[in-house]
Parts: sequence; structure tokens; C-alpha cells
Amino acid sequence: MQNSFLYKDNEYHVEDVPVKEIVKSVGTPCYIYSASALKKSFNLYREAFSSIDPIICYSVKANSNIAILRAFARLGAGFDIVSGGELYRVLSADGDPKKIVFSGVGKTNEEIKFAILSDILFINVESIEELSAMDITAKELNKKARVAIRVNPDIDPKTHPYISTGLRESKFGIEFDKALDVYKKASVMEGIDIVGVDAHIGSQIFDLTPFADSLKKLIELADLLCKEGIDIGYIDIGGGLGISYETDDIPPEPREYADMIISELGGKEYKLVLEPGRSLIGNAGILVTKVNYLKEGETKKFVIVDAAMNDLIRPAFYDSYHEILNVNESTEDEEIVDIVGSVCESGDFFAKDRKFPKVKRDDLLAILSAGAYGFVMSSNYNSRPRVPEVMVKGEEFFIVRERETIEDLIRGENIPDFIK
Ligand SMILES: *Cc1c(COP(=O)(O)O)cnc(C)c1O
Repeated sequence: MQNSFLYKDNEYHVEDVPVKEIVKSVGTPCYIYSASALKKSFNLYREAFSSIDPIICYSVKANSNIAILRAFARLGAGFDIVSGGELYRVLSADGDPKKIVFSGVGKTNEEIKFAILSDILFINVESIEELSAMDITAKELNKKARVAIRVNPDIDPKTHPYISTGLRESKFGIEFDKALDVYKKASVMEGIDIVGVDAHIGSQIFDLTPFADSLKKLIELADLLCKEGIDIGYIDIGGGLGISYETDDIPPEPREYADMIISELGGKEYKLVLEPGRSLIGNAGILVTKVNYLKEGETKKFVIVDAAMNDLIRPAFYDSYHEILNVNESTEDEEIVDIVGSVCESGDFFAKDRKFPKVKRDDLLAILSAGAYGFVMSSNYNSRPRVPEVMVKGEEFFIVRERETIEDLIRGENIPDFIK
């Protein structure tokens, strides 16, 4: 865990602010992000890759709060987006369109148009039909769409199946063996300007070999295309570097990842594009929740907290582990508990059979490593208002998204006349 999150005098702090103080102001549950942790992880990437100066496109879907996006923009980051909504967010946060890449298998005509008119760096094309749609839209606008084709390198990243995206059976990208053909078709389309090659093989990856294998294939393809007279400027190797959720998880450092990539590139002139999400923001955020009740089941002890799967779905969705701490550093005896939310689903848990120092009602718990795929995957399930997001900088904290009200829950809903 980064040292932006630590106990001082037995009290858990984010930078120099006690978590308790933030809770006094915004209540629980709440997400808290550390601006310094974010900056530190971005700079680790930048320094590791400094010899080749890549475009580091923060993957917006990991955490798309506009304060987070502004922070990355000010650090010089580009952005990897997957929807028109994310493009709107990045532009609202003053992100540089010239450093935006756009991925995703189902881009609509409106989204394609928005991207072309915003003059983004390039769009990652994921199918032949999408390529034609882009050609038509670009011609209608009297413009050219800059594109890279996302290929599927058929590589097993050995991560959770839901976050593996580069296997033959996956919906993402174009089959590697067909790529040359598709590029040739694209090269004669008037509305298309080919600028790069792209792949993204998955998320929470700990092994550098799949990244190396994928990059080898991308370089091979780019070299071949250049030989065929199709000029390739960019190689986009996607994101996916894993982070530590448990203390004995040791993911590769950005430095090791960079060294591998720089050595694979072997001095070739391609401009590298990276799309890291989780590894930039995952360990820069926590979710704070309050213990509502303790309950002794027939065979288990339950700690029932006020956050739930609608606030942080990763344990329910991917069976993922999150470290949890008592905000008041505890010296109580440990017991084995399930820490669960109050949504009516058995999958609604944050920890199962976890050894945890005894808690009491109203204790505050911090669920760690919740900065990526946390708030962005939250929902109103069970009609629970979405929780606030707070950003800490030094001794100050800022509410970067307010808690939803119960009135927000029914906004936009209507009862048709015939029922009245
Ligand atoms: C989700 C995604 C990323 C980011 O993945 P992380 O594991 O968060 O680094 C990058 N590129 C694409 C195309 C994605 O879909």
C-alpha cells in the first residue's frame, strides 16, 4: 500500500487528513482518493518509460471522476476512452484531444462523429463493419478518421476470465491472421487514415510474458504493414498491469514492465501508446464504511456494514480480495467473520472468512485498493443513492462528487397517465 494511506497515532489517515474528519463532513459510505498517490503512480510510469517518451493514456473507465481526469491531464497524461460519455468527461476536464485514443467494440455513429469532430489522436477499430461505418461518417464530415486496428493476438494473460480480452474466443479486436487484409481494405478507404496498431489483452496481469508476446506480434505486424507501404506511426499496447490487493501479491513494477517493453521495441521508431488504468489509480483510493450491526449466524459471524455491492461490486463480481482495516487501529483479539453489505443478494460481501480484530457497532472500516473499478461500477441497486467521492491533497480534502439524494433516485422516471 502506498504511504499516502497510513495510521498516525492509531488513526487511519489519507495523506494528512484523518479519515474520521472526512466522515464527519460527508458521512459513510464514501470513497476517498489521494492526489499524491495518483501523482506518484503516474510519475513512476513516466520515469520508467522516459527514454522513449510514450503517450500514457490513462484508461478513463477505471475511475472517471472529472477531478481525477483533471489531475491526470495536468500531469500530462493522455486518455483511453471507451464511449462518447467518457470523451465528454475528458473534454470537460480539459484533457488534450490530441492525446485521446478510443477503444470499444460497439461505437455508435454518434460516438464516431463526436470523436472525429473532436480530432482525437486515433480510434481503435474493432471490426470490419465498424471500419466501414467510420469511413462513411468521416466522408460525410469531409474529414478523415485516424485509426489503429485492434488485433486479437490470441494470448492468455492468466487473469480472471471476465478481464481476459485477448483470447481467440474474446469479442475484442480483429483476428491477428486477418489483420493484414483489413489494413489493406482500410488503406483504400477515402475516409480512413491509418496511423497505428493496437492490442489490449486483459487486466490485473502479473506476468510480463503475455505483454511481451503481444508486443512482439504488434511489432511484427507494424513492420509488415510498413513494408506493404502502409505507414504505421503508433503501437498501442493497451493496459492491464496488475496491482497488489493483498500484501503478498507482488505485481511487476512499472520499471520492470518498461524495461521489458523498451527492450522488445529494440530502438524501432514507433511511438508507443500505453493505456494503464488500474495500475495508476487502484491503490490511490479507499472506500470507507461504518459497521451497522454484528450478527451471529448459525455457523458464522457477520459484520454488517453500510456499504454494499452496489457501491463496490468487485468482490461480488470477480470474487476479488480487498484488504480491510479498522480506521481506529485495533488491538482487539481477532475472530473469523464475513464482512457483508445490506443488499438482498448472497453475493453481497466484502470479505469471507476473514480474520479480523473484533469490531463494534459504529466502527469505521476502510476497504483498501478501491480507486479503480470502484465508484465507476456502482449502481443504485436496491434504490441506494450513490456515495460521495472525496479527494485529499495534503491537509485538505475536497468533495469531488456529492452524495446522491433519495430524490435523485426517481429523477427522470414517469408514471403514464393510464395508471393515474
Ligand atoms: C480496461 C481497458 C484498459 C485498462 O485496463 P487496466 O487493467 O485498468 O490497466 C486499457 N485499454 C482498454 C482497451 C481497456 O478496455
